[in-house]
Amino acid sequence: MTPGDDVDDDRALLAAHVAGDADAFAELVRRHRDRLWAVALRTTGDREEASDAVQDGLISAFRRAETFRGEMANGDCLSVIELGADSARLRQEKRLVGRLMCPGCGEIYNRYSRVPKQDKVCDVCGRGLVQRSDDREDLILERFRTYREETYPLVQFYQNLGVYHLVDGMRPINEVTNEILEIVDQKKKVLTSVVNERK
Ligand SMILES: [Zn+2]
Repeated sequence: MTPGDDVDDDRALLAAHVAGDADAFAELVRRHRDRLWAVALRTTGDREEASDAVQDGLISAFRRAETFRGEMANGDCLSVIELGADSARLRQEKRLVGRLMCPGCGEIYNRYSRVPKQDKVCDVCGRGLVQRSDDREDLILERFRTYREETYPLVQFYQNLGVYHLVDGMRPINEVTNEILEIVDQKKKVLTSVVNERK
């Protein structure tokens, strides 16, 4: 069975949850927990962080649906933005194997293309830079495979809900940021008009 087969069932469960069916959300969690866990674990590379990420995601998904219960259709209050990246270029440009991050301020460096002034020290705040434990060539290939098999099928699910946006993440940071902000602004306008209509 492919994830796509369950799309209609998932939509019905989501609608039932929003309408107040107490069991519907639990069933959605049962269906998707393993996949969410696998994606979180391979994305964070850490069991504790993965567990926190899944918990936080489920809690906020639950609360959000509670907040909007009975007031809006699902698509009105949900946007899914995917940052697209060309895996061949990511490898060629050593964007992941060379990546160094500052645990203090979050600044990102690269051993090959954005070298800090002092070796492994943040230019901005002076903290020591760290490399993510799974930014290794073999694990990166595994993460790309996981994306194709486990995350990519969700794209169709969100496309069917009409809430999916793909942003090309290979462009300069300010362009990518602006496009994301435009999508968020557009969503705000839709939400505002829905709220006003119901006043
Ligand atoms: Zn820093």
